[in-house]
Amino acid sequence: MKYGRVFNFSAGPATMPEPALERMRDELLNYKNTGMSVMEMSHRSKPYDAILSHAEGRVRELMKVPASHAILFLQGGATHQFAMAPYNFYTEGHPIDFIHTGAWTEKAIKEAKRIAKLNIVASSEDKNFTYIPDYANAKFNSDAAYLHICSNNTIFGTKYNKGFPNSGKVPMIADMSSEILSRPIDVSKFHLLYAGAQKNLGPSGVCLAIIHKDWAESAARKDIAEFWSYRAHIKEGSRLNTPAAFGIYACGLVLDWLHEMGGVEKMQKVNQEKAAILYNAIDGSGGYYACPVVKEWRSDMNVVWRVKNDEALEDKFVKEAQSKGLDGLKGHRSVGGIRASIYNAFPIDGVKALVDFMKDFQKKNG
Ligand SMILES: *Cc1c(COP(=O)(O)O)cnc(C)c1O
Repeated sequence: MKYGRVFNFSAGPATMPEPALERMRDELLNYKNTGMSVMEMSHRSKPYDAILSHAEGRVRELMKVPASHAILFLQGGATHQFAMAPYNFYTEGHPIDFIHTGAWTEKAIKEAKRIAKLNIVASSEDKNFTYIPDYANAKFNSDAAYLHICSNNTIFGTKYNKGFPNSGKVPMIADMSSEILSRPIDVSKFHLLYAGAQKNLGPSGVCLAIIHKDWAESAARKDIAEFWSYRAHIKEGSRLNTPAAFGIYACGLVLDWLHEMGGVEKMQKVNQEKAAILYNAIDGSGGYYACPVVKEWRSDMNVVWRVKNDEALEDKFVKEAQSKGLDGLKGHRSVGGIRASIYNAFPIDGVKALVDFMKDFQKKNG
């Protein structure tokens, strides 16, 4: 592999596109004849103005973000959004609706609970989060402050594959950390969506948030710290304080790559192709490998499976794979097993190499 790199299946921080990394390398010491690195540059300077507006413009173009919505680059990751959303939008008498689909909604619920009343309107906890619960018939509360969903469940390997809930007049918020820009999304359906960058967008330290401007202006509380206020971040154009400047620059380069690859429609096709190769190998192994996720709800980004329900064998699988340059396949500590995260930037050759390894491993350890 070029540069001695491995196939990195890590769930996040995750593989980034090589062309983006190469541009970072080439521009590291002297960015476009400014005589300095982006890391050393004032975030109020002209070159940085251009970097920020370029990244923002790319998000708007690739996700077809309507003019009603602002694009923000924040800090604190998705975890910070778990708190920021309720602090902005919860008011008494308006509980928050949650669809509970795994570890990440669990965390969002825990944060909201500190200050808010909430309702779990649908949950897949009964079957260890191996499916997306029936949201079409869920009873949403018409007076809810908002509905929170997680569109792709990184740890359990599930994804909303049949559209998104219709929450009526109630604003919908989505945590899209592990699938942002992996498929076309109708942004206008969401009042807020966000994603920590380190899965599909760039390095850690940046969190993309896309928010309905009028909602932030009219509905968000004013008696909170300025740093928590969406309104304040919109007003300051993602520069309320010193932003994660280099990270935002890096996101811009990843977005350039995505643009050159043909955008999210094209990316979705490639992602589906990659996921199908892997799921077919699992399902075609005669039960040696088994994916616990109900077929219709499987994620294209995070593929989870067990090896004969045998932890010792799974340990061996992960170690041997690693020695062959297939890195980061250990399942999340809360569920065990194997997990392959195959985000946008993960190359199809890596998926094929993994499938070859799986066949070989089964032959030797069947
Ligand atoms: C990784 C992840 C998070 C946590 O992101 P941080 O940036 O570490 O806060 C939240 N939600 C989902 C769905 C994730 O995949």
